[in-house]
Amino acid sequence: MTFKTAKMVVLTIAVLLFSASSLYSYNRDLNVVRYVSATIKAVGWASSELEMEVLKFDHALTSLAAGTQNERHVQLRFELLWSRIDTLLEGEESRPVREQSGVREMLLDLRQRLVEWDPKIYGLTMDDRQGILELKRELSSYRQLAREINVNSFSGEKVWQQLDIIGDVRQRSTIYLAGLLLSGGLMLWLVIRENRRNRYLAYHDMLTGLPNRINFYQMMERTLALAARERRYLAIHMVDLNGFKAVNDSLGHEVGDRVLKVVASRLCVMLERLDHVARLGGDEFVVVQFFDDREEAARSSARVLQALSGEIRLPDGCLTPQASIGTSLYPDHGTTMAELLSHADTAMYYAKHDPKFSSRVFEPDMDEQRLRSQKLAVALQLAIENDELTLVYQPIFRLDGGHIESLEALLRWHSPEHGHIGPLEIIAVAEHHGLAHLLNQWVLLTACRQLQHWHGRGFDWLKVNVNISPEIFMSGELGCTVAATLQRTGLPASALVLEITEDTSLWDTASSVDNLTALRQLGVEIALDDFGTGYSSFSHLRQLPVNKLKIDKSFVSDLSTDKRAVDLVHTIIRLADSLEMEVTAEGIEEPEQQQRLQQLGCQLGQGYLLARPMPAEQVAGWLEKDLRRYSPAG
Ligand code: C2E
Ligand code: MG
Ligand code: MG
Repeated sequence: MTFKTAKMVVLTIAVLLFSASSLYSYNRDLNVVRYVSATIKAVGWASSELEMEVLKFDHALTSLAAGTQNERHVQLRFELLWSRIDTLLEGEESRPVREQSGVREMLLDLRQRLVEWDPKIYGLTMDDRQGILELKRELSSYRQLAREINVNSFSGEKVWQQLDIIGDVRQRSTIYLAGLLLSGGLMLWLVIRENRRNRYLAYHDMLTGLPNRINFYQMMERTLALAARERRYLAIHMVDLNGFKAVNDSLGHEVGDRVLKVVASRLCVMLERLDHVARLGGDEFVVVQFFDDREEAARSSARVLQALSGEIRLPDGCLTPQASIGTSLYPDHGTTMAELLSHADTAMYYAKHDPKFSSRVFEPDMDEQRLRSQKLAVALQLAIENDELTLVYQPIFRLDGGHIESLEALLRWHSPEHGHIGPLEIIAVAEHHGLAHLLNQWVLLTACRQLQHWHGRGFDWLKVNVNISPEIFMSGELGCTVAATLQRTGLPASALVLEITEDTSLWDTASSVDNLTALRQLGVEIALDDFGTGYSSFSHLRQLPVNKLKIDKSFVSDLSTDKRAVDLVHTIIRLADSLEMEVTAEGIEEPEQQQRLQQLGCQLGQGYLLARPMPAEQVAGWLEKDLRRYSPAG
């Protein structure tokens, strides 16, 4: 039983007990009141009747003397008075009357008198005036007593006591009644509050307080109807955080929760009236915005991305959330909720797996591409298992001496069914369909085995550069995989260079540093790939235990034409120098580029000018040629 249910049960029991005891007491007091008022009434009635009977008997005597009534009437009144006295002396209901002080004695005395008067009454005639007057005189003292008893029954001390009891009981009953009303009210309030809370929980996400999926669906129906009525455009943005699973795994759920809360509040801040946002589950949010202009709606995802960017402070470090956004537009991409959500989802898939974009607007042929990705995933798994993939190797040269320093392993796949598939697409498919780890293990093992083979043939200074898929790096499992592979192949750790793309390390400084440090401790080298295309700040770079930078080929290609590219590359080289990192320039295609890079002090180079990526069998020829030209020992 949860704490909440236990609280409710205790409260219900308390309220029920209180209500039951209030009802019981109220009932008991009501009986007391009934009894007391019945007693007061009975006493009052009986004593009035007694006085009345005495008076009527007296009146009958007077009427007899006056000749207006006969002897029979007097006898009748006499009998009635007698029976009244008998009732008062013996009747159960008359007990309170005879219990009054002096009443019983007076009644006994009167009955004794009646016994004595009995023969006189039956012998009395209207002519016997003397007898009548005597009887009236004797009766007058009893008339006086009956009067007193009657008055006492209405105003005597006992009556006041009884009235006090009624007053007390009334007061108590009012308190019980008020208590009953109060506890009933409290119970009602609790039930209403609980109901409202349950309703809120059914329609909201507990963590962020945003509407949940059910709530969103209901809102969306209304939103679509409104957009149709007002002829407005809608942008439906499906927002998914990049690498969120890894944040949760490596930094813990508390940090993950904090990120989700901040993201939720940032999304809320950017909403206009009528727009809404919901959390559909995990790290998936949906934002729906109204627009009057189609173009503006199509461009709006940039604003969502901007709203999300910005560092989140954590207890030990900072983290910049990055998201992928897929957008569908109403009415262009559909008029029903199902169509719009499915299209936004498809666009999001593309945003997530195309490194060039963080957000994509749905395009009709995306559905086909998505289907292709699903088919590719099935084929890729088989290809990994059946060793259908290959690695090609591109030499990385020392620019000053010209000898080969290392070989970058690059993935190739020629599928019998789908033809040639580029490495970026393979990686995207693998990451999206949960094959990244398997693929990564295959690449690492294949490249290390190949290098082991070359080491065996005497090229034991040679290194191999292996690209690591961002997802694997973030998950923190890489250290174990690398250690196991090195052990299996017997290669020295220093022969392995792991290339990680620049923005992989952006999520969080603390965990990036931890992951990288663990790898460096193994003895492997780390190169930051495609440097300059991500968002690493220089201060961030300083904290990363990285020993190589690879300048992205987009900077190198501009070297011969753009003075600013030269300055930028120069700055990167100087920076790397001060951080004791070596720089590799990627994509050298022209001799001028190579020359310029050498002038700027770049140590390593890679590009079609120097050598294209090639199958493993061709590498040996290059190595032999290299060995003839240059001996590392000399
Ligand atoms: P990258 O790691 O930056 O690799 C360099 C890319 O530049 C390679 O493309 C290479 O063929 C290409 N390249 C080399 N020299 C030149 C040049 O002079 N001009 C031009 N235009 N391009 C040049 P590739 O093989 O298509 O690979 C593309 C990307 O795919 C790689 O970029 C890397 O990020 C990823 N990748 C490739 N193989 C793997 C792998 O086994 N695992 C992972 N995770 N990613 C891989
Ligand atoms: Mg690379
Ligand atoms: Mg690169």
